[in-house]
Amino acid sequence: MSEQNFDLVILGGGSGGYAAALRASQLGLSVGLIEKNKLGGTCLHVGCIPTKALLHSAEVADVTRESAKYGVTAEFGGIDITAVTSYREGIVASKYKGLQGLIKARGITVIEGSGRLVSPTTVQVGDDTVTGKNVILATGSYSRSLPGLEIGGRVITSEQALELDFVPKKVIVLGGGVIGVEFSSVWKSWGADVQIVEALPHLVPNEDEAISKQFERAFRKRGINFSLGVRFASVTQNDQGVVVTLEDGQTFEAELLLVAVGRGPSTAGLGYEEAGVTMDRGFVITNERLATSVPGVYAVGDIVPGLQLAHRGFQQGIFVAEEIAGLNPIVIDDLNIPKVTYSDPEVASIGYSEAKAAEKFGADKITAYDYNLAGNGKSHILGTAGSVKVVRVNDGPIVGVHMIGARVGELIGEAQLAVNWEAYPEDIAPLIHAHPTQNEALGEAFLALAGKPLHA
Ligand code: FAD
Repeated sequence: MSEQNFDLVILGGGSGGYAAALRASQLGLSVGLIEKNKLGGTCLHVGCIPTKALLHSAEVADVTRESAKYGVTAEFGGIDITAVTSYREGIVASKYKGLQGLIKARGITVIEGSGRLVSPTTVQVGDDTVTGKNVILATGSYSRSLPGLEIGGRVITSEQALELDFVPKKVIVLGGGVIGVEFSSVWKSWGADVQIVEALPHLVPNEDEAISKQFERAFRKRGINFSLGVRFASVTQNDQGVVVTLEDGQTFEAELLLVAVGRGPSTAGLGYEEAGVTMDRGFVITNERLATSVPGVYAVGDIVPGLQLAHRGFQQGIFVAEEIAGLNPIVIDDLNIPKVTYSDPEVASIGYSEAKAAEKFGADKITAYDYNLAGNGKSHILGTAGSVKVVRVNDGPIVGVHMIGARVGELIGEAQLAVNWEAYPEDIAPLIHAHPTQNEALGEAFLALAGKPLHA
């Protein structure tokens, strides 16, 4: 039994927790970081990083298939899943080592074990107590399922999907959001038949509707099947596979069912409520400065309602560390956080969709300009299709950017600056974009909105 005291105790060492620890230590605070599994959390070990390794393998498979088009003689001979696994694990291991080194170099004390909040200043870890003047809750999220849909056997979540030691021939994916389309994209490129089932009327339903529709066309063209606006009813499984029945009576058979219907907050049984923290359906309620209802206790990352993204967690962690250190950081608005759906094609967006902007500012007070990537030289060279849509307030700033196409996630940085700095197209249009780059598409949209389209 021991007691350790710090300026700041952080429960959970994922994106939100470790970012808070790094920033707090930089600001001179002593930090105890409690982690029950591995530093880096979901994103590093079973989320962002390993899935992007799979997507890269998928892209290489597609490029190999199309190589003749580019004058390269190569033959796609299939997927060696053992090699994919060692590539994926190698990347995660190297990033994990780097993170551990950084945490150590910053003098952060890592306490291994499962923690429970027992008072506003105390976390219990086994027989030991860890106290802090401030506490940050950062325990992350888990893959949710639907009522009556049990995970197990051939009914899997993204965690088991990552670890598969074979390439499935046929998969049903329940959920057409970011995680569902990401795995669908990978499996299709690896040669599987994929059927997505989405209860809402569109794939990537949280995006601008025109982008969702383009995304559906692209997936259909790739031969990825989907049923929209229909709910899952039941599943049966045996040694051979699964049979999924939908509420409209359709049935699908496959080897596996991936359940990708969202992520719930990991907060059950951790003492939050008993310590006086206000909760709502398992999420921790905070004010805009990420303070919970208990003075001195903050929350960051996926347990806070809103976008469940690693970079939101990072930024919230930095924010709270600075808040505790008295630096009065600027409040984070989810609307100004970039979102990327990683698949083929990619979707990247920030700010108001056209419909939401019309609702907020008035349909006659906004203008949306859609630049087709067919007009972009670099997209042509890469053989990709898509578009870049910019929404502005008339005589006012850019309030939304929505893109679809290969690697448009890499373009979101400029859009993020434009939206966060409330740039007017007239101000940003004269900035020069290198030619030929896909970035020029954004430049073309800014030029068009400033009333001087170049290639449109
Ligand atoms: P987590 O990363 O989940 O970390 C929480 C940590 O707390 C974990 O390490 C856990 O072990 C620990 N913990 C929990 N309870 C306790 C306890 N009682 N005691 C001690 N430790 C505890 N986001 C993106 O931005 N980009 C992407 O490309 C992306 N891809 C994703 C792909 C997949 C398949 C998934 C599942 C997620 C993806 N995400 C992505 C989301 C991203 O992973 C999360 O938003 C992010 O990890 C949230 O960070 P967090 O700190 O809130 O929680």
